Amino acid sequence: MEVSSVKKLEQMEFSLDSVTDLSSSSVSSSSPAVATFSCVDGVTELRFMQSDSTHCFNFDLASAQLFKLGPVHFICVSDSSSSSEEKSFSQGVNIKFKTEKDSKAFCDSFEEWTKDAVVQVSAKKSKFDNKIEASSAKMYFHYYGQLLHQQNMLQDYVRTGTYYAAVMENRSDFAGRVVVDVGAGSGILSMFAAQAGAKHVYAVEASEMAEYARKLIAGNPLFAERITVIKGKVEDIELPEKADILISEPMGTLLVNERMLESYVIARDRFMSPKGKMFPTVGRIHMAPFSDEFLFIEMANKAMFWQQQNYYGVDLTPLYGSAHQGYFSQPVVDAFDPRVLVAPPMFHMIDFTQMKEEDFYEIDIPLKFTASMCTRLHGLACWFDVLFDGSTVQRWLTTAPGAPTTHWYQIRCVLSQPIYVMAGQEITGRLHLIAHSAQSYTIDLTLSAKMWGPGASQGGILQSSTCKFDLKEPYYRMSQPQAYPVAQEPPLQPQPELSTQDIQTQNDELEEELLQQPPQNPSTQL
Ligand code: SAH
Repeated sequence: MEVSSVKKLEQMEFSLDSVTDLSSSSVSSSSPAVATFSCVDGVTELRFMQSDSTHCFNFDLASAQLFKLGPVHFICVSDSSSSSEEKSFSQGVNIKFKTEKDSKAFCDSFEEWTKDAVVQVSAKKSKFDNKIEASSAKMYFHYYGQLLHQQNMLQDYVRTGTYYAAVMENRSDFAGRVVVDVGAGSGILSMFAAQAGAKHVYAVEASEMAEYARKLIAGNPLFAERITVIKGKVEDIELPEKADILISEPMGTLLVNERMLESYVIARDRFMSPKGKMFPTVGRIHMAPFSDEFLFIEMANKAMFWQQQNYYGVDLTPLYGSAHQGYFSQPVVDAFDPRVLVAPPMFHMIDFTQMKEEDFYEIDIPLKFTASMCTRLHGLACWFDVLFDGSTVQRWLTTAPGAPTTHWYQIRCVLSQPIYVMAGQEITGRLHLIAHSAQSYTIDLTLSAKMWGPGASQGGILQSSTCKFDLKEPYYRMSQPQAYPVAQEPPLQPQPELSTQDIQTQNDELEEELLQQPPQNPSTQL
């Protein structure tokens, strides 16, 4: 840091062939210009001055970005004002160099000077940093910076195949359009968009994976010149133009885990033109009560370890209660047989085009089911699906039980106190999700069964069970063999009486590409 602050006292000048204003609707006259890097009172600045002194453009290098359009042609953009809270637009200029050598020298200096400027403002926290613990974000982006975890997602053929189908079936939504890939990872969705004819794709990725994405994209020259990888958070970076379409894979377990949906809607507000489209467009959390004696006993047994009164001479029982509570606060992640469901499911819809970022902070879902059988009820099973509402084809990506398994599996919140229900009995309750700063949610679940028999007319509650879970600390229970054969049909829910109303639109040509096989390596995704 000390070394670079010495260099910042210098000034550096570059001559340009032309500089023109990007934001003015009319084409402003282009004339030769000089670009000057300077550091005055700790503010690192880049100034473009036309030689006839008609126009001067100042950029704060802490927020400036440079985009290459051709060997000697670039765009430089930055926040319009560093003081305003709402950064609704950017300022930008089109710049041209006389030679490639000039442009290369300028780019190298730009990189050096911006690096220093960013170090200076790093104390200024971004929207993301304000709500997410630094240690959580560090682990999160470290995880996604590794190829093995990106590979795990790429090898989820249900996931990646459905994205591919949704994009290729809706080519008209992409052809000739500007696309932003929100959390691009390996860049796979950017390359799908480019294959579908996108005019330009901005692939935004915050983790070190951005470097790998650059390498992968460069190795695919058919797409490379139409994709720009931008390393940074969608909350922080600037783009030189508005997007017609946003593509992203921001879903975590229970749809909302990882809190990336918030970044998805922030990207919508920052980068998407008013009539833009979002892929995916909506998501639904599906829920149904379940009965699974094996799972319940397995969890209760884990805590039984602490029932020992003579463990090498030590009484472990003082910690039994805490251990029991600990196990029952872990949501269980696995693929279960849909026959464990004891009532037709219901769903809660989340419209990505309408949700505000703050709407994700607390999600309150009232529950109401009718038991289809007489059983002991052990908790609530949840899964999700998302819709790609294309102009040509609507396609759903589902993680439902009984459908081909994805790396998200399904999730079950197991109650430490099961409740008894009779066929036809009403089950009510509440699923309350509260976001926390470790990029996940605290879940409060209550299930109640109304009185059965003569007492029911008085409306009294016979049994009610409540549990708290941390979505960040799931129990991955993947040792069970997957019970479901590879389906030839698109995702189905095998029990008709338990099915939801998913709209399934098919395209025979692309069906083959949706090789619906379960992922090989069960994920330990965050
Ligand atoms: N689009 C890729 C990767 C999906 S995983 C694919 O479909 O295979 C989500 C990616 O989003 C991760 O690589 C993660 O690092 C990135 N990400 C999460 N939050 C982000 C944010 N706020 N800004 C930029 N990238 C983000």
